[in-house]
Amino acid sequence: MDQRTCPRCLAALTPAHNQHLQVDLCRQCGGVFLDQGELARIVRKSPDDLEHLEHLAAPAATLVTDAGRGLMRCPACGTQMESYQYAACSGITLDCCPACSGIWADDGELGAISDHLARGHEVLAAYAGRYASVLTEMQVEADVTTERWHALAGVCGMLDWRPIAEVPPEPPGQL
Ligand SMILES: [Zn+2]
Ligand SMILES: [Zn+2]
Repeated sequence: MDQRTCPRCLAALTPAHNQHLQVDLCRQCGGVFLDQGELARIVRKSPDDLEHLEHLAAPAATLVTDAGRGLMRCPACGTQMESYQYAACSGITLDCCPACSGIWADDGELGAISDHLARGHEVLAAYAGRYASVLTEMQVEADVTTERWHALAGVCGMLDWRPIAEVPPEPPGQL
């Protein structure tokens, strides 16, 4: 395909790129087409670009509804795209091309992914904080146990008790 067209509104897509990304924007409906692996790369390397692209692809008018889903043609290869949920439980529905693995994000969806990632980082930070306190408590508990053990060993020493697990000395060899 020479000219890539929007799978939603069929307007011509506009290529947009900077030093680390290459995408196609629909200036009419605000959607963004990302080639295979592009979304994952942005999320991993430069998540701030999600908001950037969202602003860059601001739609001229809001005219897209979910009615178009299932009839979308991949801008890169023309294959019918399939909708799927981003990151399983995000509640964000994207469309993916089963042939070339390109991804279509409607207006607002890249921003939603950006918010989702930010929430994910908050959750991770909260977990890290919680586990840090649990680990500190475990360390305190371990120190107390060690102290008790040393105290007990000291008492045993005074009473000349042998540790229970001590192996009895070998009987002298007999000829
Ligand atoms: Zn469009
Ligand atoms: Zn495709």
